[in-house]
Amino acid sequence: MKKAISDFLESHTCKFRWIDKETVGLYIPEKDEVYINLYLLIAETLLHEFLHFQYPYLGEVEIEAKTRKKVKNMKVDEIRELVDYLIAFKED
Ligand SMILES: [Zn+2]
Repeated sequence: MKKAISDFLESHTCKFRWIDKETVGLYIPEKDEVYINLYLLIAETLLHEFLHFQYPYLGEVEIEAKTRKKVKNMKVDEIRELVDYLIAFKED
């Protein structure tokens, strides 16, 4: 790992935490804290790839727009349920 990144991690609190449906990461310089919205990142990635499967004729820009729209229309519980389902499925 690059020294600058390891120095950053050692001098900051870095945690996985739900933030909101629009925010994949948050840096709070005055508190030396970094939060990564892992659930949102995983849900967006899964939906993005699923939409490529569903709409093979669409390009990257359209798929990204559809992904954002889909995530925006999901409830937080649905996002969590989707990610939990993926994790449980992959552990089988
Ligand atoms: Zn893509």
